[in-house]
Amino acid sequence: MKTKNLELYIHIPFCVKKCNYCDFLSFPCDESTQREYISALIREIGFYGASMRDYEVSTIYFGGGTPSWLDELQMMRLLDALGEHFTISKNAEVTMECNPGTVTGGKLALYRKNGINRLSIGLQSTDNRELNILGRIHTFEQFLKTYELARNAGFSNINIDLMSGIPSQSAESFAKSLKRVINLKPEHVSAYSLIIEKGTPFYDKYKFDLVKQEAGMQPDMLPHEDEVYRMYKLTQMMLSDAGYKRYEISNYAKKGLECKHNIGYWTRENYLGLGLGAASLIDDIRYSNTRDLYEYLENTKQIETKVFSAGEGEDLVQTMGTNLHISAEQLSRHAVMEEFMFLGLRMTDGVSRLDFERNFGMPIEAVYQEPIMELKQEGLLVAREGRIALTEQGIDVANYAMAKFLL
Ligand code: SF4
Repeated sequence: MKTKNLELYIHIPFCVKKCNYCDFLSFPCDESTQREYISALIREIGFYGASMRDYEVSTIYFGGGTPSWLDELQMMRLLDALGEHFTISKNAEVTMECNPGTVTGGKLALYRKNGINRLSIGLQSTDNRELNILGRIHTFEQFLKTYELARNAGFSNINIDLMSGIPSQSAESFAKSLKRVINLKPEHVSAYSLIIEKGTPFYDKYKFDLVKQEAGMQPDMLPHEDEVYRMYKLTQMMLSDAGYKRYEISNYAKKGLECKHNIGYWTRENYLGLGLGAASLIDDIRYSNTRDLYEYLENTKQIETKVFSAGEGEDLVQTMGTNLHISAEQLSRHAVMEEFMFLGLRMTDGVSRLDFERNFGMPIEAVYQEPIMELKQEGLLVAREGRIALTEQGIDVANYAMAKFLL
C-alpha cells in the first residue's frame, strides 16, 4: 500500500535561445544531446522508482528550460518511464511549461491524451516591442496561436506567465497586457516582477539603471520604482475584479484551480527533482543535483550512493545521497521551522496552527509569540480560523515580515 505523498519535478534544461533576463539553468542544444539527456533522465527515474515504492505521486511538473520544445518521441519516452517506475495517482496534476511557437496541435493533443492536464505558457507581455527587449522567441500573435491550439487540444487548465517592470514598460502598457490576458480567460495567472540577475545580458546592460532605481532616482530604461509599484497594484486589482483569487504573492487562480504542485512546495510536501540541477526535499533532507551536463550524463550510467558530511566532531552530520548530487543536507529543526513559516506565509491562507503543532509538537506561539504579536500590531498579520496569515499590507512588505521568523 502507498503511504506517502510525493511530487515530481522534471527539469528539461533546453531552450531555443536564451532570453536576455534569464538565469535559469537552460541553454540551446542539438537533438542528439536531447536524446542522450532523456536517456539519462530515464535512468534516474528507474533508480528512484525502485527505491520509492511506498510513495504515490500526486503532481508532476515538467519545467525548464522549455519542455514543450522536446520532440514528441522524447517526451513520450519520458512519460512512459514515469508511468512504469512510479505509482501515479489517478487524479494527479501534470503540468508542462510551454513556450509559444514550440508546439503543434498534434503534439499538444498527444500530450493531453497521455496524461498532461495542465499547461503553463510563458507569455510575459502582449507588446511585441517588450517581447523583443526581453529576447523572447515569440510574438503575441504566436502566443495566441499556441493558446488556441492548447484549448483545441482539450487543455482546460492553463496558466499564463506575465511580467512587469520590463525596461521601458509603463503601467499603462502593463495594464493593456493584463487586460488582454484576462480576456483570454486562463484558469491561472502568474504575475512576476522582472528581477535583473547577475550574469545575464540584462545585468550588463542595466546595472547602472539598477543602482539608480534602488536609490529612488529616475532610471534611464527600467521603470521607476513607483511605476513598478503601480503595476503590482494593478495586477491585484484587475485580476481580483476578473474573479481571480490571489493565493500566493505572485499567483492568482480561478476557484479550485490553484497550482497543486506549487502549493506542495509552499507546504513542504516531499518532492523529488529529477534532471540537471534539480532540487529535492525528502523527509527534511534537501538534495541538489549536479548542474554540469557532462557529469550528469556520465554519472547516471552508474548511479551510486554517496555520503555527504557536514560539521566536525560532535556536530558531524552525515547524509546519504547519490553521485548525482552536489549536496545533501539534513535540515536542522530550526531550519525546518523557518522554512515552514517563510513558505507558508507566501500563501494568502498562511500557515495552519494545527500543522505547526503536528510537525513540531508545540503551539506556534511557543516559538513565534513575539513576531506574531509585533506584526499583528503593525497590521501586517492576522490570526483567524486556526491560521496565521499576512495581510495585504504584510504581503507588500513580505521580506520585512518574514525576516521576523528567522530563529
Ligand atoms: S524560455 Fe524561460 S528558461 Fe528559456 S531562456 Fe527564456 S526565460 Fe529562460
